[in-house]
Amino acid sequence: MKDLSFDTKAIREGYRTTQEQEHSEAIFLTSSFVFDSAEQAAKRFSKEESGNIYARFTNPTVDAFEKKLAALEGSEACVATASGMSAIFATIMALVESGDHIVASRNMFGTSIVLLNTIVAKFNVEISYVNLGDLSQWKDAIQDNTKLLLLETPSNPLGEVVDIAALSKISQASNVLLAVDNAILTPALQNPIALGADIVIHSATKYIDGQGRCLAGAVLGSEAIIEQVSAFTRATGPSLSAFNAWIVLKGLDTLSLRMKAHSDNALKLANWLSQQDQVEKVHYLGLESHPDYALAKTQQSGFGGIVSFEIKGGREVAFQVINATEMLSITANLGDTKTTITHPASTTHGRLTDKEKQQANITESLIRISVGLEEVHDVINDISKGLLV
Ligand SMILES: *Cc1c(COP(=O)(O)O)cnc(C)c1O
Repeated sequence: MKDLSFDTKAIREGYRTTQEQEHSEAIFLTSSFVFDSAEQAAKRFSKEESGNIYARFTNPTVDAFEKKLAALEGSEACVATASGMSAIFATIMALVESGDHIVASRNMFGTSIVLLNTIVAKFNVEISYVNLGDLSQWKDAIQDNTKLLLLETPSNPLGEVVDIAALSKISQASNVLLAVDNAILTPALQNPIALGADIVIHSATKYIDGQGRCLAGAVLGSEAIIEQVSAFTRATGPSLSAFNAWIVLKGLDTLSLRMKAHSDNALKLANWLSQQDQVEKVHYLGLESHPDYALAKTQQSGFGGIVSFEIKGGREVAFQVINATEMLSITANLGDTKTTITHPASTTHGRLTDKEKQQANITESLIRISVGLEEVHDVINDISKGLLV
C-alpha cells in the first residue's frame, strides 16, 4: 500500500479477513496454533515454512498491529511488546553488550532513566547523560565502545527538542545506532526514521491507544535490527497480548485525527494560559515564544498535546490549582481523551534529586497538562477555577 496517504494506511494497512469475512479485525485469543501434519509442524519450526507456532512468537492480531504501525512509521519491520518499558528494555538487551556504552538524553521518561541506572547498569553497560538539544554534548559523549544513542523528542513536560537529522549524521559518522522514543508525537506528527533515526520506540499506552485502556509498546527499524529485538522478546516473553494488540490496532485508525485535535486544543489552552496574571511561564512547543519552536517546525507536523506552565508561588499554590479543578483527572498518565493534570516535581519526576530537578528545569511551581479531546473551553473553565482562588 505504498502510494496511499497516512490516514488511509492508518485505516487499511495490515487488514486481513478470515474465512468468516468479518469487517473489523478479529482478535485471536489463542496461545498456540495447530498444524495439518507432523511434517508441517517440522517445517514451521525449521522456518522452511512461515506461519504461526505460538503466541510468544507471533499472533495474527499482533501481526496486524505491527504491519500497520511499520507502514505509518515508514520502517521495514516492527515488533510489538507488552508495554513501552519492555520495548525500551528489549531494544537495549538485543543490541547492546556487556562492555558497551549508551549515551542517553537526561530529559527522558523517568522510568527509562531508572531502567538504565538500576537494571541495564547491572550488565556492565556504561551510561552517559547529555542535554537533549545540545548536539556538541552528544558528539563529545560518544566513545569507541558507544553502541546506542537514546532519546525522546520533544521531551515531556517542557517540550525541548533535538534536531534528529543533525544527530543522525553524528551517529552515522561514529557507526552508532540512534533510537528515538516517539510516544509523545506518534507517527502522525513526526517520523524519526525519515529523519535518519535507526530505531523508533513506542509506548502505545499513550496516544496510540489514546483512551487509557491498556499497556502496549513497539520497536521499529530495519529487518536486521527487528530480527534481533524479536529474538529477545521470543526468548524472554514480553510479547503483546492479542487483546491489547486489537485495542491499539483500532487506536491507529483515528490517530491522525486525534493528534490534530490534541494539538489544536493544546495551542488554545497554551494561548489562554499565557494571558493569565497568575501564570509565570507557559511551556508549549506550538507557541512562537518557545525556544525550540522554529526547530520543531522543521521536523514535526504538529506540536502535540502536552502543555506545562509555572504558576506564581511554589508547591503549595500549584497543589491549590490542581485541587481546585473539578473535571480534570489528577493522574500522571498522558495521551488520553480525558485531560489530565499533574505536578511533575512530586510525581513523574519525584524520584529525581533536587540537583537533577534543577538541571531538568522541573520547578515546584510547574504543572503539566495532557490536553484531551473534551471541548477546550470546558478544560479552560475548569483550570480557571484554580487560578481564581
Ligand atoms: C509512558 C512512557 C513510556 C513507558 O511506557 P509504558 O507503556 O508505561 O511502559 C516510555 N516513554 C515515554 C515517552 C512514555 O511517555
